[in-house]
Amino acid sequence: MIQKIITPTPFAVGTVNSYVLKGDALSIVDVGTKTPEAYEALKFGLKEAGYRFEDIEQVILTHHHPDHMGLVDAFPNAKVLGHVYNDAWLRRDPVFLASHFDFYTDRLIEEGVPKEYFSWVKKMTRSTDFVGTKPLTSILHDGDELPGHPGVIAMETLGHAQSHLVYWHEEKQEMIGGDLLIAHVSPNPLIEPPLNPKAKRAKSLLQQNASLKKLLTLPIDVVYSGHGEEVRNVHELIKERLEKQHNRAMKVLGMLQGEPKTTFDLTVQLFPYAYEKELGLTLSETIGQLDYLLAEGLIKENMNEEGVYLYEQA
Ligand SMILES: [Zn+2]
Repeated sequence: MIQKIITPTPFAVGTVNSYVLKGDALSIVDVGTKTPEAYEALKFGLKEAGYRFEDIEQVILTHHHPDHMGLVDAFPNAKVLGHVYNDAWLRRDPVFLASHFDFYTDRLIEEGVPKEYFSWVKKMTRSTDFVGTKPLTSILHDGDELPGHPGVIAMETLGHAQSHLVYWHEEKQEMIGGDLLIAHVSPNPLIEPPLNPKAKRAKSLLQQNASLKKLLTLPIDVVYSGHGEEVRNVHELIKERLEKQHNRAMKVLGMLQGEPKTTFDLTVQLFPYAYEKELGLTLSETIGQLDYLLAEGLIKENMNEEGVYLYEQA
């Protein structure tokens, strides 16, 4: 049985959903943001479902963003399960966290972002303020069955986050989907630092497309999303999202007629009103489209002497 609990967040996204799962074990998938308001809302939601924080045996995470794993510390008797990437955040892994500043600085350089915007690195480097500190008890891998929930399988579905897992109940044709598929908004393919600071950055949009296509192979009746309402027209919505993304990439391809351009040039052109206020989000959108066009063989990428990537039609 699945019971939904909605909690507030201090972020633009508004509210976030948690799901209480009663199987052989009593589990909760995602636990809201670490704020007093979210704590009270979660406490109330659990009470309405007939439980207290102490009763929950497992906290299961869909991904590491603070609105999903903030309140892990509120469950004194629970094991914590999720993707290994969550653990670096929960443990405040010093090498991992220290690598973020350089990671985002390197990205701005190669994207051709002017120096006056480099103060953005601080904003892009996600804070640990709203994140709990209870580390993972066990790491979940793609294909693992959830302990205490026979038939529920973890599926690695990276893209929006480098820690993203969804939980698929084949028999019931139900999925707890985190932020892979949300009814009212298309989740941003965020650029996030790799666990190993020496690794290359992930191509988040390509990961997200691959994750969505995995869902197209499954007979899904309902996705319980991380935000907003359940999704029932799953395949239809995915096809719509993929088509929209393709069309946006074609628009970027059109902008690459003539002179080679940087990621920043294209971001300004694509988001003339939003880029100054939402530089991180708008750049990650543009990077996604460029990764897609490169993978399709439609554009070429060259680095100039200043270490800036320039793009032109192939
Ligand atoms: Zn979210």
